[in-house]
Amino acid sequence: ATEKQTMGFQAEVKQLLQLMIHSLYSNKEIFLRELVSNASDAADKLRFEAINNGSLFEDDPELKIKISFDKAARTITISDNGIGMNRDEAISHLGTIAKSGTKEFFSRLSGDQQKDAALIGQFGVGFYSGFIIADRITVETRRAGTPASEGVRWESEGAGDFSIEQITKPGRGTDIILHLREGEDEFLSAWQLKSIIRKYSDHISLPILMNKEEWDEEKKETVQKDELETVNQASALWTRSKSEVTPEQYEEFYKHVSHDFGAPLAYTHNRVEGRSEYTQLLYIPARAPFDLWDRNKRGGIKLYVKRVFIMDDAEQLMPVYLRFVKGVIDSADLPLNVSREILQESRDVRAIRDGSAKRVLSLLEELANSEDQAQKDKYTTFWTEFGQVLKEGIGEDATNKERIAKLLRFASTHNDSDVQNVSLADYVARMKEGQDKIYYVTAETWQAAKNSPHLEIFRKKGVEVLLLTDRVDEWMLSFLTEFEGKELASVAKGGLDLGQLENEAEKKQHEETQAEYKELVEKMKTALGDKAKEVRVTFRLTDSPACLVADENELSGNLVRMLKAAGQ
Ligand code: ADP
Ligand code: MG
Repeated sequence: ATEKQTMGFQAEVKQLLQLMIHSLYSNKEIFLRELVSNASDAADKLRFEAINNGSLFEDDPELKIKISFDKAARTITISDNGIGMNRDEAISHLGTIAKSGTKEFFSRLSGDQQKDAALIGQFGVGFYSGFIIADRITVETRRAGTPASEGVRWESEGAGDFSIEQITKPGRGTDIILHLREGEDEFLSAWQLKSIIRKYSDHISLPILMNKEEWDEEKKETVQKDELETVNQASALWTRSKSEVTPEQYEEFYKHVSHDFGAPLAYTHNRVEGRSEYTQLLYIPARAPFDLWDRNKRGGIKLYVKRVFIMDDAEQLMPVYLRFVKGVIDSADLPLNVSREILQESRDVRAIRDGSAKRVLSLLEELANSEDQAQKDKYTTFWTEFGQVLKEGIGEDATNKERIAKLLRFASTHNDSDVQNVSLADYVARMKEGQDKIYYVTAETWQAAKNSPHLEIFRKKGVEVLLLTDRVDEWMLSFLTEFEGKELASVAKGGLDLGQLENEAEKKQHEETQAEYKELVEKMKTALGDKAKEVRVTFRLTDSPACLVADENELSGNLVRMLKAAGQ
C-alpha cells in the first residue's frame, strides 16, 4: 500500500500515552534518553544481523546517532543508521505494546497519579515518552537491506491513532522528528541537549553527533555549523575501567540495559581472565518486575562478543534462580555466530554462568554482612523483592547451596512480626543448651504459623521456631535438610523428640501419663479406623486438646494442601 493510511492504537497504548504525558511531565527530559536508547538498540541489531549478511551495511558502515534541532520549525530530530523498520514492524512496534507483564501492569493501575507514575516508570516508558514534549511525532524509517523506495513514514499526535505511508528514504535507519508542544522551546538549544545527553546517555557506545555552533558577530547569536562533534564518550561503558565510571553513569547504563526507570540496588563490574575471558557488569534491580513469576520469562543478560551485541535475554548465562539479575556479559572467547542452541552446550558458557552466579552471590553477601546500615537495608529490600526466587537456588544450585542457605531470611517466633529477617546463623546462635535441631513450622500465612498448636511446647521451653509461609518453602526444605551440622526439623512431624531439652523427671512423667491413657488411645484408634494412621499421647501441646501431625517420612499437612490447590 503506497497510500497514506490511518490506524488506531491498541487500547493499552492510548491508556499508557494519556497516563505518561500527565504523570511524567516533571521528568520530561527523559524522552531523549529513551530515544537514544532505542537508536543504540537499533545499531546493535544491525551489527548482529550483519554478522551473517555484510551487505546490510550498504555503503554506510559507521554506526552513529545524530541529534539536531530546528528553531524555526520547532523540531528535534534523533537519527540513527541502525536496523530501521519496515511497514509491518513500524505498525506493530510503534502501535502496540508487546512487553511481558503488560496485563499485570494495567491491572495494577489505580488512577492515583503519583502511584501510577511510579508504576509506569517501573514498566518502562520507551518510544511514547516523546509525546511528553511533542504534540506530533514523525518517524521516517527504512529497514536495512530494503530498497530506498520502501521507506515508511509513521506519524501521530499521540491521541487515538497514527498514519502510515510509503516514502523514499535513501539512508537506512530511523529519523524520529519531535514537533514540540507549545512552551517546550527550552529544548531547542545545543547546550541543553548536550547536557541531557551527557547526563543520561554518556554510556552509549556509539558516537552521538551534533552540529558544532559558533558565535556570529553580525547576527549577534550562535549559529550551527555543518561540522559535527561527538558529544558522548562513545566507548562501551563496561570496557572502561571502574575508576573511570561514575556511580551516575553506572546507574544510567542500568536504565538502558534493563529498561527500568529506577536506580539499581547494587552492581558488580569485573573483568575475568583465565581459562575463560569475559567482562561482566551485573545489576540487582531494586524492585521485582511485573513478570517475576512468569516461568517462560527469559533472563536479563545481554550477551556481547568482543563488543558486538549478540542477543538479549541470554538465559544460559545466569542460573534460573538469579533471573532477576540484569546486565551485560561480553565474552572474548565465544564465536560471533553463536546461537541459543550453541550457548546451551558450550563449556565457555557454563564457565561464565558459574562465574556470574558466584559474583552475584558475593555481591549479596557483601550487602547482607555489611556493617553499614544503608547496605544492610539494601539487603532487606533485596530479600523482600527477590527472596522467594533466591530460595529456588537451594534446590537448583548444589554447588552454592551453603552460600545461599546463609543468605536466607525467615520470620521466627523470636520476633513478633512477619518480617523475614532471621538468618539460620542467627537462629543457631540463639539455640538453647541441649538443642540440636533447627525447628520450623510451615503454614499458609504468618498468622496461621504463629498460632499453630505445634508451637505450644516450644514456647513453654523458650525454643525459637522459624515460621515458614512462602509457597516455595516446602519444596526448598526438601533440599535443605541441615545447616552447619544441625538438622532442620518440622515441629509438625513424627514423634517430637526434644532430646536434651527434656529432663529426666519430665521423661518419667511422660511414660506414666502414656500408660494411664493407653485404653483411651486404643478406643480412639478403633473409632477413627482408617482415618488416622496412629493416635498418640502428646506432650507438645500445652493449651490445645489435640493436633494433627504428619508421619516422619510423609508430606506435611501444608504441602498436601498446596498440592491439592495446584490440582495434583
Ligand atoms: P523497548 O525499547 O523497550 O522495546 P520502546 O517503546 O522504546 O520499547 O520501543 C518499541 C519498539 O520500537 C522497539 O522495541 C523497536 O522494535 C522499535 N523501535 C523504536 N525505535 C527504533 C529505532 N530507532 N530503530 C528501530 N526500531 C525502533
Ligand atoms: Mg526503548
